[in-house]
Parts: sequence; structure tokens; C-alpha cells
Amino acid sequence: MIGFARRVGFAGMVLAPTFGFLMAVASGAAGLTAVPGQPVYDPAQWVLVANHLHSAPGGSNGWSSGVKHILTYCSARNIEFALMTDHNAIKTWFLPEFRVTGKTTPVGGMEWTSEQGHANLIGFTASTPEQAILPCGIRGQAPCAQEGQQDHASMVKQVHERGGLVIINHPVLKGYKWPAGTCGADAVEVNRSWSDRYGVAARQWWHDKLLKGDHITGFGGSDYHYFRPLSSSDEEEGLEESEHSNEASPLSPDIETPVNLVRVGEKTVAAVMDAVRAGHAQVLSDLTQPRVFLGCDANGDGVFDDYMMGDRVRLAEGSRVVIQVRVLGGKGQRLRVFDAKVGEMLSGRGPEVHDITSDDFVLALERTASAGKDRFLRTEVGERGANVTNPLYY
Ligand SMILES: [Zn+2]
Ligand SMILES: [Zn+2]
Repeated sequence: MIGFARRVGFAGMVLAPTFGFLMAVASGAAGLTAVPGQPVYDPAQWVLVANHLHSAPGGSNGWSSGVKHILTYCSARNIEFALMTDHNAIKTWFLPEFRVTGKTTPVGGMEWTSEQGHANLIGFTASTPEQAILPCGIRGQAPCAQEGQQDHASMVKQVHERGGLVIINHPVLKGYKWPAGTCGADAVEVNRSWSDRYGVAARQWWHDKLLKGDHITGFGGSDYHYFRPLSSSDEEEGLEESEHSNEASPLSPDIETPVNLVRVGEKTVAAVMDAVRAGHAQVLSDLTQPRVFLGCDANGDGVFDDYMMGDRVRLAEGSRVVIQVRVLGGKGQRLRVFDAKVGEMLSGRGPEVHDITSDDFVLALERTASAGKDRFLRTEVGERGANVTNPLYY
């Protein structure tokens, strides 16, 4: 764990003159209380969410550790929501163990699985296991209108009509690539996959969409599988952590690698889904990684709480805007700030890189607003996606 509760003296902060950054200032927080001016981390409003969990045999390319184990495992790590996504199946939603377990609420989803890409469909309505939303041409579904061609956009529309949201999975994974565009999806995985070890290619795919002006949310999904058979006692008890080790299954990531930290008004499934849609989320490559908060002061009260990651800053075009980036628990790592304009070439400017010199670190950035039209700023910690925030559109 990171020492969020550590006390550090307030060293103040100063803004650089006019252009741009930079003022990396060591600043302080008394416990978790906000220091005036800084984006706040209120643990009561940020919840950990695990996504892309294969939870049932038959829907998991083989074996799974099962819903009960997944929920018990998440609860022990304060992961409060677990998004269950089996391949083209929603049978798990109807199991008796699919219920609040300890601190963790299961969320019904499925992995829409086609040769032209995979996507997690989350939280759509279904009253029987037969009401999954399936690709054309499989399991008794109508053949595809055009042979072998999925209609991604109408799938997304159907999910939306049924109250759900769509997260594109491993967009560049060889053999399962999503089409070039978002097709109206709400979010995309921006972390590693089997063929993209640190998620660099996935984040490039995402950034390219942001540069095209598409406000699609970056989200994390572990693609947790469990490839060894379970014994009956495993099923009764849930698994021990040691038994769950990847030594048994080097191909499968852990449930919390990565994990999402999501800002919710209240701790409900609906609030989590709204937060995903709004981009009020950051992706941590594992639970030990730094937390990062973006804040903007628009009403001039000196508190950077009017806009956060995912938001569009509604300030008049050309006006001065100050954005603060606060990093907790990142001392010794590097903060990468991607500040971009819609329409720029992907191969354009790289990120600005700042050393994170304290465990409660604030960077103040001064910019000129575009009324949220075509500028955005997002951050990553390190080059392997230790922490990835959603953009603030300014
Ligand atoms: Zn997949
Ligand atoms: Zn998967």
C-alpha cells in the first residue's frame, strides 16, 4: 500500500508566469484532507472496479475460478465492483452466488466475442440467460447480412437501447482486432493484452481516437481467465490466494491487473456505469500504483474541484485555465503529460515528462481554453501505464 495517510508539511504552490507549466511543487496534505487549491482525493467517492473477468466454465475458454472466488478475492482487496464478462454468455448472472459478497457487488456483463473484435457489454437488461447480445452467425443467430461481417455499430446501439454500455477490449490484439473506428462504443481498454505487454499499442489506438475528437473513455480490463480445473473443495471454499497464483496459469493475469479507480456519487452499479461513460476513471496497472487526480478551478474560488478527468471545461474560448495534476504515492516515478489538440498527427509531439519528487506531488499547468472544443490533457505515470487518467477536455 501507499502511504496516503502520511503527514507532510504544506510547502505552498506558485504558478509559473503565463505560458504553460510548470511548477512542480512539493505540497502537503494532512491525512486525506484537501489542501486548498489541490484536487481532492476522497476515498469515500472513489471505488475500485475490476473489469473483464471470466467467471464461468464454458464462457471462459475452459475453466474459471468461479463467481464466488472472484467476489471473495475482490472483497479482500477492497475492490467494490466486479464486472463479470464471459464469452458470448450471461449464464453467471443467474447463479445464486452472483450476489453482493463481503464488500463486492457483481456487475453483469458479457464479452461479445467475434473474429472482428471483442467488447465487454456491461449492465444491459436481460431476464433470462438466452437474452445475451450475440454476434451474427453464431449459436443459432441469424447469419450476418454480409458474409462474415459483424455490424459493430448496431450491436452498440442495441446495448445502449437496453441500458448498457460498451467497452472495446484489447483493440489491437492480433487476430481479434476491432475496426478502425469506435463504432459508438463508450470506452476502450488501454492496458496490456496478450500481444501488447504494457498496453502501449492500445493507448496509441485510444489516443488516436481522442485526436479525432472522439471522447471515448479509457478503461482497464484484466481479461482474467483461470486455466486449470478446480477441485470440488475449491468450489466450496473459494480459492486461497496462493492457489490462485499465476504459476499455475502463466497466461492469465490477476483479477486486479489492471484495476480501475472510479469516481462515483454513490456506490451503485448505475453510478459506476455513469462514471465510465463520463470518463471519471483512472486505470492502475495494479493496486500498488499511484493515484492521480486532475482538477480545474473555473469559478475562481481557488479550489480545483469544478472539473475533473473526463469533464469538458466550459470556459470561454481564449480564457486562462489552470489545471492541477496531483499524484499520490508516486515518488521516484515519472509523470507524463499528454497535452494535445484535436487534428494533430498521432506522431506529433510526445508527452512532457516530470519527475515525481514527493509522495504528494502537484503540478500546476496554465493553459488557454478552447471552450472544451479541441484541446485535451491526460496523464500517465511511467511508460508502462502504471496509472492512466482520462483526459480533461479544455
Ligand atoms: Zn477478448
Ligand atoms: Zn476476455
